[in-house]
Amino acid sequence: MKVLFMGTGTSVGVPMIGCRCDVCLSENPKDRRTRTGLYVEAGGQCFVIDTSPDFREQVLAYNILHIDAVFFTHSHADHIFGFDDIRRYNTIQNHQCINAYAAPETLVDLERIFDYVMPQKVSGVYRPLIEFKPIDSPMQIGSAMIEPIVVEHGNKYTQGYIISEDGKEFAYVPDCASMPQETFDRVKNVDVMVLDGLRHTPHPTHLTIENSVELLQKINAKTSYVTHICHELSNDYLEKNLPDNIFPSYDGLQIEL
Ligand SMILES: [Zn+2]
Ligand SMILES: [Zn+2]
Ligand SMILES: [Zn+2]
Repeated sequence: MKVLFMGTGTSVGVPMIGCRCDVCLSENPKDRRTRTGLYVEAGGQCFVIDTSPDFREQVLAYNILHIDAVFFTHSHADHIFGFDDIRRYNTIQNHQCINAYAAPETLVDLERIFDYVMPQKVSGVYRPLIEFKPIDSPMQIGSAMIEPIVVEHGNKYTQGYIISEDGKEFAYVPDCASMPQETFDRVKNVDVMVLDGLRHTPHPTHLTIENSVELLQKINAKTSYVTHICHELSNDYLEKNLPDNIFPSYDGLQIEL
C-alpha cells in the first residue's frame, strides 16, 4: 500500500490569512500546510480520504491522474469543499461513476450540500457523476479492506479509517477530540497510526499535541504521525520535540507499507 499526505494543515491552513508569525512566514516548505487529505493506492485501487478546499491544487501538485473512490471522515468544510473537482476524474475516466462513501450521518449533510450532484435534480449540467454510499462497517476495496472507526469530534459525527492490505494496517484519524475505548482497542498496535495533533492550546474539538502524543504512545503503533496541524507548531519544532517513532506529517509525505 502507498499513502500520500496531500494536506496536513488545520481548517484555516498554514500560512493563515493575515498572520505574520514565524511559522506562517517560514520558508521551510514543510511549514506550508494545505487542508487535510490523503491519497491511497491499495488493493489495486486508487482512492482519497476527504476532498479539502485545496483538493484541486493538491491533485495537480502530486499528479494524481486516477481516483476510483472517495471516502469522507465527516462533513466539516475543510474536508469536503473540494469535492466538486472530482468531476474531472469522471471525464478522464470515460464518464465512470465514482462512489463516495461516508457514514450515514455524514451522507445527510453531503447530499444536502451537494444536492446538484444528484442526477434527478438538474440535467445537462457538467456535474460530478457520483453515487453516494453509506459505510459503517468494514468494506473490501479491490483486494484491500477499509474499515471506519468512530471518534469524538464535537457535534459532527466523525470517523477515521483503517486500511489493511497484506497483513499491514494503516489507521488515519485527522480530526479527533477523544477516542472511544472500542476504537482505541481496534487501533492498538497497528503498523502506522496518523492522529490529529492540532497545537499546544486546548481546543474543544481537537486533541492538543500533548494529548495526541499521550494517546499515540498508548496506541503503540510501529510508526505514528501527527496531522491537522496549526501555525503554533513548526515542522522543525515537531521534529525536535516529538518522542521516538512519532513524526510530524507534512504535505507531500509518502509512505509505503
Ligand atoms: Zn478538519
Ligand atoms: Zn501564523
Ligand atoms: Zn472537523
